[in-house]
Amino acid sequence: MFNLAARLAEQHQRDLYRSRRIAEGASDVHMCIDGRDCLVFCSNDYLGLATHPDVKAAFIHAADHYGVGSGAAHLVTGHQYAHHALEEELAGFVSRERALLFSTGYMANLAAVTALTDRHDEVFGDKLNHASLIDAAQLSEAKHSRYKHADASALAARLTASSATDKLVITDGVFSMDGDIAPLPELATASHKHNAWLLVDDAHGLGVLGSSGAGSLQHFGMSDKEVPVLVGTLGKAFGTFGAFVAGSEDLIELLIQKARSYIYTTALPAAVAEATRASLKIIQTDSARRQHLHALIQRFRTGAAQLGLSLMPSTTAIQPLLVGEASRALAMSEALLAQGIMVSAIRPPTVAEGSSRLRITLSAAHTETEIDRLLSALASLA
Ligand SMILES: *Cc1c(COP(=O)(O)O)cnc(C)c1O
Repeated sequence: MFNLAARLAEQHQRDLYRSRRIAEGASDVHMCIDGRDCLVFCSNDYLGLATHPDVKAAFIHAADHYGVGSGAAHLVTGHQYAHHALEEELAGFVSRERALLFSTGYMANLAAVTALTDRHDEVFGDKLNHASLIDAAQLSEAKHSRYKHADASALAARLTASSATDKLVITDGVFSMDGDIAPLPELATASHKHNAWLLVDDAHGLGVLGSSGAGSLQHFGMSDKEVPVLVGTLGKAFGTFGAFVAGSEDLIELLIQKARSYIYTTALPAAVAEATRASLKIIQTDSARRQHLHALIQRFRTGAAQLGLSLMPSTTAIQPLLVGEASRALAMSEALLAQGIMVSAIRPPTVAEGSSRLRITLSAAHTETEIDRLLSALASLA
């Protein structure tokens, strides 16, 4: 029983062993990792806000005022002015009646899916959904059907076949390992036709897509009528920590009553909420960051195409390079590291067997010269 050594050995043997590297200093495009200076292309801090002076100043100032820990859950004494103000500002940002803060995106997804569905219901998820959406569907007692990636007609077929009481469609807005944007207008049409609700987890779209950074829904010009449940995370383009669910007054009240990952956990520190308010202000007012990021994405794709690299069809900050075998992805990641460039190798079970890849992510904090440096390093591996 519990032969852990054998289980670990198997991870090694299949090139799936995961280990952590130690980073010194701030999360930035230049980091010292395991004692080596690196140019980093694997962070989700897409706008470079984790180290923005206004965001840091708001955090420090709030820590002085509120202290560090919130001391309790939101329903006890943990719901402070900073949390409440951030919720109102986030609701305005994504044009919803209300927003509810969570400590992580993982918990926000668990909350939304389990509070809405029970064993009489059915949850329909894209095959490439983020692990937290998959786990959320599993934790709810609803039937979980998974449809072909980004395929609204496959979804429609499953909806047609369903006799469930309530139907909830769940999808990433931007897929975290592929970088493509879900066909949200088509998914919304199929959902509407079958009286299903659509939940979009826009962890990688918020801040990056849309004219004011409001994400995938703004990109498509969609409203809360088409997408009643919107999940956003704050640890990526916002550069801070936490997450939120946004929607109608009744949706948020239901989550407050029912969502166990909201009720039974300590509220995130108020200083994190204040830092996020500062970061939201920058996202809404400083569109130059977003424009710079999109110019870098374009530059990278053009250069990679010239090198004949097999990029995936993505217009977002996530620009994966499909490799295939886990061992090859690992070797390429190591070879880049030897040149001082940090890119993570993504292997099963995060992605399907045989589709291991380098997950390259770009940030507004990169310069054009740094994109060119990445391109020449990739060229040297080919
Ligand atoms: C990162 C991520 C999450 C989890 O968010 P955390 O705040 O890191 O827990 C959820 N969904 C998607 C699509 C993500 O990429």
